[in-house]
Amino acid sequence: MFLKTFRKGIHLPGHKGLTSSLPIEILPSPQQVVLPLSQHIGAPAEPLVSVGDQVLLGQKIAEAQGMVSAPLHASVAGKIIAIEPRPHVCGKMVTAIVIENNRTDEWAPEIFPRHLDPERAESDEVREIMKEAGLVGMGGAAFPTHVKYNLSPDQPIDYVILNGAECEPFLTCDHRLMVEKPDRIVFGLRVMLRAAGASKGYIVIEENKPDAIAALNRAVQGYPIEVVPVKAKYPQGEERMIIYAATRRVVPVGALPAAVGVIVNNVATAFALAEFIQSGRPLISRIITVTGNGINQPKNLEVRIGTLLEDVLNYCGGFKGNPGRIILGGPLTGSAQYRLDLPIMKGTSGILVQTEAETPKTAPSVCIRCGKCVDACPFNLLPNFLGLYCEHDQIDKAEAYGVLDCRECGSCAYVCPARRPLTQMFKNTKNKIIAAKRKTS
Ligand code: SF4
Ligand code: SF4
Repeated sequence: MFLKTFRKGIHLPGHKGLTSSLPIEILPSPQQVVLPLSQHIGAPAEPLVSVGDQVLLGQKIAEAQGMVSAPLHASVAGKIIAIEPRPHVCGKMVTAIVIENNRTDEWAPEIFPRHLDPERAESDEVREIMKEAGLVGMGGAAFPTHVKYNLSPDQPIDYVILNGAECEPFLTCDHRLMVEKPDRIVFGLRVMLRAAGASKGYIVIEENKPDAIAALNRAVQGYPIEVVPVKAKYPQGEERMIIYAATRRVVPVGALPAAVGVIVNNVATAFALAEFIQSGRPLISRIITVTGNGINQPKNLEVRIGTLLEDVLNYCGGFKGNPGRIILGGPLTGSAQYRLDLPIMKGTSGILVQTEAETPKTAPSVCIRCGKCVDACPFNLLPNFLGLYCEHDQIDKAEAYGVLDCRECGSCAYVCPARRPLTQMFKNTKNKIIAAKRKTS
């Protein structure tokens, strides 16, 4: 069979065998949850509760603020014991609501099914549901979903695509969700199609997940939805690659997918939407993969949002020896973390624990001009030059060489024999350029 793919990119060992066949387990709710008000792109949510209040499971405890934001819900029933700055995955202290679990799991009265017909729903109604559910992009981007569907009338949407590629090594949470909950994912996509006014849906899945492809092919029967198997290659799960694989449409540099009539969501986001409509459950938990050679019992887990890493890792049998590095997310786009009192957030897809032996010991060196990064960049950038410009703070040159078009996929840094922290340099430079543009606008 001819499989769709894209030019360049990199072939990586998947390391998915550690967890790909393990059914999702439910992590018992922890004694405390820490819920940062900022766990999505945009303005932090505004607390609706005070210290000392009792809250019920699923109760809205913080409201979305401004145009781009998402509300927050209690992921355990119990008492609010603090609203204060707590460690956040961004490396700073960020205000969070802390709930002491009373172990009743008593649902809030507003938790009830919505009885919404996907083929008849109004798009305004669906957008409101997306917002009320606290949905954000669960592939890691954490962009509020209802904002993505706030479409301009002059940009009609033809297709909604679900990203089930899961191309990052080690992660298998989306894979297991597709195998175990295909009907809910398809229900969520049908609602999304209606919200976007789109005529067709696609679910793009890498070929190395035949059981997920089979499960979804069964679930889409009778609906205008096609499952698209694609080659297992990194970064196949990047938004532009997904769009090209499904539709052969090319998103212009600097434009959003809506510019070519497409919206892309993660399969987990579609599932979370279906959960809210069919069960009334807002986004209070998510599936993550806990994996790597440095953890005793790798698992796919359903985890309450706000559970601390240490609680998750303890449930997985703790570290195997001394951990070398703990990464939130996958090894290419995830972020290394140095403390265990960080919470699982809406956009957290996994915890990867590398052993000391797997952790690089050599320091980055100067560019040896091998050109491997150029061959790897799927967006035809020149990471070698960009790296030099960013390193020497030559921001104008970096911008002229397209640093803003970098999708931070990490392919260049992965292949670089000099171990240059290219992605990090590009990220920092992009932030500087964007901040400067904001100041002058
Ligand atoms: S991180 Fe940026 S420059 Fe590097 S390969 Fe990805 S898109 Fe290209
Ligand atoms: S891969 Fe690394 S060493 Fe080779 S050209 Fe690119 S930046 Fe330089």
